Amino acid sequence: MSDATCAHLGAVTNVRHAKRRECAECVKMDAQWVHLRTCQECGATLCCDSSPNRHASKHARNSGHPVVASSEPGERWLYCYPDEAFAEY
Ligand SMILES: [Zn+2]
Ligand SMILES: [Zn+2]
Ligand SMILES: [Zn+2]
Repeated sequence: MSDATCAHLGAVTNVRHAKRRECAECVKMDAQWVHLRTCQECGATLCCDSSPNRHASKHARNSGHPVVASSEPGERWLYCYPDEAFAEY
């Protein structure tokens, strides 16, 4: 991660990818999502802030897991919630 802008992003060495192409929480409540993000701490794949339920940012706040990667095909970037920092890889 050469252009890392915070320590959390700098700590990611192997980017975790989505195991399933769905938000684990939206599926349970039969909700819709827009984009998917994968937590780099525990591998949970959840929905983005453009989605009605914003499960990825809720997860980051509640669990203290700071960094997500985009789970969208062709997108190669990481985002740190507490620092609002962004890095491509
Ligand atoms: Zn950070
Ligand atoms: Zn969701
Ligand atoms: Zn997590």
